[in-house]
Amino acid sequence: MKKKSATAYEKHIIKCPACGKDALDHMTECPSCKAKLTPLNYQPMDSSVTRKIRLVLTVVLIIAFAIFLIIKYLF
Ligand SMILES: [Zn+2]
Repeated sequence: MKKKSATAYEKHIIKCPACGKDALDHMTECPSCKAKLTPLNYQPMDSSVTRKIRLVLTVVLIIAFAIFLIIKYLF
């Protein structure tokens, strides 16, 4: 099931060293045989951005919860 042109998705396909099946380069384990993979194009930028977004979401949730508690106690 190969396409004519390499899509962005296909650029991220790597071969699993354990079973030879396709896996994605950001995966830490093979979807077929669950072998440990080393993500080749692992970008620390992405993980730091993800961590930042998660932190912001956590802070927003805490603030929202605090506002909810304040409103509950005030009214
Ligand atoms: Zn595998």
